[in-house]
Amino acid sequence: MDKIVALCKRRGFIFPSSEIYGGLGSTYDYGHYGVLLKTNVKNEWWRAMVQERDDIVALDSAILQHPRVWEASGHLAGFTDPMVDCRTCKARFRADHIGELQCPQKPSKHPGEGPDCDLTEARDFNLMFETTVGPVKDSGSIAYLRPETAQGIFINFKNVLQFSRKKPPFGIAQVGKSFRNEITPGNFVFRTREFEQMEMEFFVPPAEADTWYRYWIDQRERWYTQLGIRPDHLKIRPHDDDELSHYSSGTSDVEYLFPIGWSELEGIANRGNFDLTRHAEFSGEKLEYFDQGTGERYVPHVIEPAAGADRATLAFLVDAYDEEEVGGELRTLLRLHPRLAPVKVAVLPLVKKDGQPELASEVHSALRGRMHTEYDEGGSVGKRYRRQDEIGTPWCVTIDHRSIEDRTVTLRDRDTLAQDRVAIDELPDLIAARLAADWTSPKIG
Ligand code: ATP
Repeated sequence: MDKIVALCKRRGFIFPSSEIYGGLGSTYDYGHYGVLLKTNVKNEWWRAMVQERDDIVALDSAILQHPRVWEASGHLAGFTDPMVDCRTCKARFRADHIGELQCPQKPSKHPGEGPDCDLTEARDFNLMFETTVGPVKDSGSIAYLRPETAQGIFINFKNVLQFSRKKPPFGIAQVGKSFRNEITPGNFVFRTREFEQMEMEFFVPPAEADTWYRYWIDQRERWYTQLGIRPDHLKIRPHDDDELSHYSSGTSDVEYLFPIGWSELEGIANRGNFDLTRHAEFSGEKLEYFDQGTGERYVPHVIEPAAGADRATLAFLVDAYDEEEVGGELRTLLRLHPRLAPVKVAVLPLVKKDGQPELASEVHSALRGRMHTEYDEGGSVGKRYRRQDEIGTPWCVTIDHRSIEDRTVTLRDRDTLAQDRVAIDELPDLIAARLAADWTSPKIG
C-alpha cells in the first residue's frame, strides 16, 4: 500500500487533503490523473448500468434531504458503529475492528492489549454528519449529510415511475458523494469520511427477487474482472445470518484481496420491500406499482448493488501496479485496463527539432478529439516512457526522423514493450479499435 500511496502522490493521482495545514485525518484530494482515472471508473459503471441496458435510468438526488428520510430509513436510530475509548491515551476505536488496529502507544499491540490500555465499554456512535439548514440554528433546522445515495432513489421512486414508462423489473442508478463520520477511517482511500458511491436500486416483482439477487451478484463480479481485476483476487462472500440487516434476506460482498487482506469492494443486498414500505408509511404517499395488464398492485422488492468509487479506484490501482526489470533497470508501471487508463496515448517527438515537434502536434491533434491524449517533448525519451508507464498510459507514439520522410511512427505498447511501425493516417482508427477490444491483464497467468 505504501508504494501505491507514494506513486499516487508523486504522479498526481491523490494527495492528502489540507496538507499545507498539516492535513485533516483521512481526507484526500484527487489530482489530475486521479480525477481522470476515477471518472473512467464511474463512466464504466454508467456504461454497464445505463448505456448498455434498457431497464435502468439515471438519477442525481440532493445530498441534503428532509430529516424524515433518515427516520424512515432507520439511519437516525440505527446507523451506528460500536465505539470504545481508551481512558489512558484518549484514542477512539471501532470496537469490531480492534483486531486490525494498533495501540497508539504500543503499535505492536492491538488496543486494549498494552500494559497501560484502559478501554471503556463499547457504546453506539451514529455515523451521520449533522448540519443546520438556514441562518438560524435550532432543532427545526437540523439536516444530515447523506450517509448513502440509496435513499435519494427510494424517495424518487414515484417520480421516476411516472416519467420513465418503466415497469418492474427496472432500476434507478446514482453516483455521488456520501458522508460517514467513521470512527477509524484509514488505509488510504479505502475508508474515508467523505467518499463517492455508485448505487443502483433494482425494483422487481416479489416472486423474482431471489433470481435477480443472484443475477446482480454475477453481473457485478463480472464488471470487475472485465475491467482487468485478476479473478483470483476477487471473491463473493455471502453474509452470515448474524451479519444481515434486519430487512435483508440476503447480502453478498464482492471482496478484493487488498494489501490489507480481503476487504469489501461492494455489497449486493436483497432488501425486500423494506425501504418503499417505510417511506410510504412515513410520507403518506403510496409507493407501489399497479400493473394495468393484470390488475395487480404490489410494493416491489429491491436488489441493491452498492459500490464505492474510491474503493474501486484503489482496487484497480493496486491490481495494476507492477514492477519489472528491463535492461538492468527497475520499471514501475500501472497495467490498467486501457479504458480505465487516465491517458490513452502519449505523443512524443524524439527530438525538439527537425520538424518533429510540428508533426507530433499534428498527430496529437488528430487523436485528442477521440481519446485522452498527452503531448510531451521534455527530457529523454526513456524518461518520458517511464513517466507514461507510471501513470498507466497503454500506448506511446514516437515521432522520429523517419516519420518526417514517410509519415509513419512507432507505436509502443506499455505491457509488451513491442514497438510497431504504423502509418500516421491509420493511427486514430487503430488505437480506437484496440481501446474497444477485450483486454486481459498480463499479470494473469
Ligand atoms: P464497511 O463494512 O466497509 O464499513 P459498508 O458495508 O458499511 O462498508 P455499504 O453501506 O454497503 O458499506 O456501502 C457500499 C459501498 O460504499 C462499500 O462497499 C464501499 O465500497 C463504499 N464505502 C462505504 N463506506 C465507505 C468509506 N467510509 N470510505 C470509502 N468507501 C466506502
